[in-house]
Amino acid sequence: MSDAVAVALHELVLANRIMAREGIIDDFGHVSVRHPHDPERYFLSYSRSPELVTRDDIMEFTLEGEAIDRRGRAIYRERVIHGALYQARPDVNAVVHHHTPEILPFTITDLKLRPASHLAATIGTEVPLWDSQDEFGDTNMLVETIDQGESLARAQGLNPCVLLRGHGANCAAHNLRAVVFIAIAMRDNAQLLLRSLPFGEPIYLSPGEISRTAATQLEDAPLQRSWDYRIARAGFRGI
Ligand code: MN
Repeated sequence: MSDAVAVALHELVLANRIMAREGIIDDFGHVSVRHPHDPERYFLSYSRSPELVTRDDIMEFTLEGEAIDRRGRAIYRERVIHGALYQARPDVNAVVHHHTPEILPFTITDLKLRPASHLAATIGTEVPLWDSQDEFGDTNMLVETIDQGESLARAQGLNPCVLLRGHGANCAAHNLRAVVFIAIAMRDNAQLLLRSLPFGEPIYLSPGEISRTAATQLEDAPLQRSWDYRIARAGFRGI
């Protein structure tokens, strides 16, 4: 195994634990990383809750969602979400799919999930909403087919995030640290808006504020600082 793959797998385990610790993903939801040497492959845990994921649980998949070495293990039914995004977005190397309760009101009402604090700029100017009814009618509400995954990736477009009606959201970024940062910012911004809306129309960041602030926050130094804080909170501390 190359050093780059070892680092990717190590960080993917940490990202799973962080997402669980922060309440972004609980019993369900998942996080993946693209293979550092093969853009047609990605890494994702077998189907278990992220709180429990270890290095040995990580599996390699094709972008069509075929497991390279399945060994009888259960696999996430919604893994097509990851492959479709990696296929559509060469700039994306890490994906989180989650059902964070705080963002769900924004998937079932006309409320818009727009950045209202500086830390939320990374969720982008627009957070589109994908409704599975539009193309697929009544379903089991899961994203299980390649067609559904591709439809969802189209709805997300070049945006960092997309909402799924009555279901959850996806976040995508150039690396795991950034996608973890964005997923937490998305939840925090939803909380902020829900707290603010009873008192009137919130003041949102302007498009210029969003692009300038997001560019600053997605630099390596702030992402490193945030990542260190989150892995400590998830129980990984040095001495
Ligand atoms: Mn889901």
